[in-house]
Amino acid sequence: MSSLSVQLTAPNGRVWTQPTGLFINNQWVKSSTGDKIASINPSTAREITSVHAASAQDVDTAVKAARAALNDPSWRDLPGTERGKLMNKLAQLIEDNRETLATIETCDNGKPYTVSRDDDLTETAETIRYYSGYADKIFGQVIGTTPDKFAYTVREPVGVCGQIIPWNFPLSMAAWKLGPALACGNTVVLKPAEQTPLSILFLANLIVEAGFPPGVVNIINGHGSVAGAALASHMDVDKIAFTGSTATAKHIMKMASNNLKNITLETGGKSPLVVFNDADLDLAVEWAHIGIMYNQGQICTATSRILVQDEIYDKFVEAFKKQIKNVSIVGDPFDEKTFQGPQVTQAQYERIMSYVDVGKSEKATLAYGGKPFKGVGDGKGFFFEPTVFTDVTPNMRIYQEEVFGPFAVISRFKKEEDAVQMANDSTYGLGSAVFTTNLTRAHRVAKQIQAGMVWINSSNDSDWRIPFGGVKQSGIGRELGEAGLDAYSAVKAIHVNMKSKL
Ligand code: NAD
Repeated sequence: MSSLSVQLTAPNGRVWTQPTGLFINNQWVKSSTGDKIASINPSTAREITSVHAASAQDVDTAVKAARAALNDPSWRDLPGTERGKLMNKLAQLIEDNRETLATIETCDNGKPYTVSRDDDLTETAETIRYYSGYADKIFGQVIGTTPDKFAYTVREPVGVCGQIIPWNFPLSMAAWKLGPALACGNTVVLKPAEQTPLSILFLANLIVEAGFPPGVVNIINGHGSVAGAALASHMDVDKIAFTGSTATAKHIMKMASNNLKNITLETGGKSPLVVFNDADLDLAVEWAHIGIMYNQGQICTATSRILVQDEIYDKFVEAFKKQIKNVSIVGDPFDEKTFQGPQVTQAQYERIMSYVDVGKSEKATLAYGGKPFKGVGDGKGFFFEPTVFTDVTPNMRIYQEEVFGPFAVISRFKKEEDAVQMANDSTYGLGSAVFTTNLTRAHRVAKQIQAGMVWINSSNDSDWRIPFGGVKQSGIGRELGEAGLDAYSAVKAIHVNMKSKL
């Protein structure tokens, strides 16, 4: 085994060879500074291993590799059908390695193994497969003008794409960004989040195995303020695609302005879920629970603000608490019964704790949870009880600010127009959900809510075939679906003069 990999064994007994280097030009290399990032298992707070952390110089090396690959005939001139085949092969390899990838994800991120294996890995493979089908369907239009002009458009790759991703869904976030970028013929430098560096390094070996030419995909771990900033401000990067916090997105936008990079940003949210008196209450409770408690509440579209109409408010709160008690089993993520694992890091766990204090000081009612959960192993992991505050009003910080944990706030409203007004009382506009059995109300409210996505009678059932993204301070641009291709191709218009004289 090279010095750039280690043999690891997971609590479920799975053994794998974990790459630890920087992946540039289809090769594993060390960081130029020797700087490393420790990957911590959030279930135990112990180090799993450490990986090389890119410096600005390493970022530059990766960008040069991506630029060379973009201009190399082995990628530049590869027909779309052949690009699609490489991507399809990658999707198959992801499926073949499903258990190992899911194991790594659970060790590194803490999400339940069943979720990693059945949800994240399905989404990862299917997103790459979905976009593989588009690789030979990226084309322009012929545009009729006058007999004197023949005009057509072609869609070209944007170029070298820097992709900066978060820790909540490491593999699927990588797939959301790699899929459309590769389908459109771009090359990529991808920087995972420092909290979850491992699974994407394993994916890198599958990229080589699938047959992608060197330099098409480069994967470099590194600190946001060093590697992320170097990528966002690099003068030879054509595009930055980012998912993470709104604060970092603002910073990235500034850095990316130096050479006017194309940008797409997916950021935070405080998404509302509105339950009307006429809703199917059981259905609303089940989805409201998933909408905030799934993935330890670490979802940018988490429907964390639950707005319930007066008449059914008390009934809803009781049923919601019962649902948490029955379903939100906190425990070892490798235990098949576990619904909720640890938060990703100590910082996130402490953030939730601090918001419990905020909620109490704002005089909201702590209706459920509110404490660390110490019942796993030696009690050192970052587990937190599912937490609910009721009697929450829009002036409170816990109503306005994203907590990013299993932390729901429930508020009461009287009339439909109040619900819309309260739902839109946010700087964010990512997801939203409406529960009603009244067809016209469902569509009327969906139209009025300021959000990139509205779920009617469900929550957070996103799909790789459907566009995903936000309005207001929740982002710019769309990922997934056909719309996701727009972010990775540039339209070139070609005008042909058909006249022989001016
Ligand atoms: P973050 O925005 O700091 O990090 C996301 C990514 O950006 C990471 O890869 C990080 O290394 C990189 N980054 C950080 N600083 C950078 C910089 N100056 N220049 C370039 N890249 C930089 O997110 P976080 O602090 O890890 O998470 C905290 C908050 O982020 C959460 O509370 C939540 O609001 C948000 N978040 C959103 C999503 C989402 O899917 N939209 C996912 C994770 C986190």
